[in-house]
Amino acid sequence: MNHLLKRNFTPYFSAALDIIYPRCCLVCGKALNLQERHICLSCSSDFPYTHFETDSHNRMARYYNERLCERFPDTYFPYQYAISLLRYRADDPYSRIPWALKFQRNFAAGEYFSHLLAQKILQAPYLQGIDLILPVPQHPIRRWKRGYNQAEVIARCLAEDLNVALESKLLIKSRYTRSQVGVDTARRNANVSSSFALSESRRSVLEGCHHILLVDDVFTTGATLSECHKTIRAISLDETVRISVATLACAEN
Ligand SMILES: [Zn+2]
Repeated sequence: MNHLLKRNFTPYFSAALDIIYPRCCLVCGKALNLQERHICLSCSSDFPYTHFETDSHNRMARYYNERLCERFPDTYFPYQYAISLLRYRADDPYSRIPWALKFQRNFAAGEYFSHLLAQKILQAPYLQGIDLILPVPQHPIRRWKRGYNQAEVIARCLAEDLNVALESKLLIKSRYTRSQVGVDTARRNANVSSSFALSESRRSVLEGCHHILLVDDVFTTGATLSECHKTIRAISLDETVRISVATLACAEN
């Protein structure tokens, strides 16, 4: 509430609001000072950046390509790229960053860290030339329960900063699946298998695309993103088209 109220007010009013509604660091919970946004200076200085923007064959890209090799054993595709802003473990306090967007409706923090991710994408030479951004969709029931799609919040910020078209109605989650939290790789693959489809009426947006960016909040095993990839490839998209992935956070196993 406080972060929304403060956006357009003077520093004096912000200081007064900090007394009434103290803003706290998402990671450690300490009160923030006037210059700090969402995380304190101390947590910011220890921020677990992945630095994937400097490494096109990073750990997340290797995982993603392994999943794709399992799904397309006989098909050649260009190496797919992957980037994420931060790495975290489940018991790590930095896991509160994707959590705040996914479960606490903290859109201001979600957008703040999404814009940081966009800066990393702009610094990654291997991620230039993206011409379409697709968020991982939610099933309508989950959307109705949560009220928003966290992947779409991130994708909207990336589209804005990269000046690339956002298409949120092409990919459809056609089968309701249980949450992937706490599920192992084999079960995650089975859980999401054939759970996505493409909208007939929106397929034309893929025409002329050479580099598509799939966006999700967290990368764990790559099961969901590789299933989305498979769904897009199923309409015989040109095999030279690259489908890269970007997430706010990358789980360390
Ligand atoms: Zn902190």
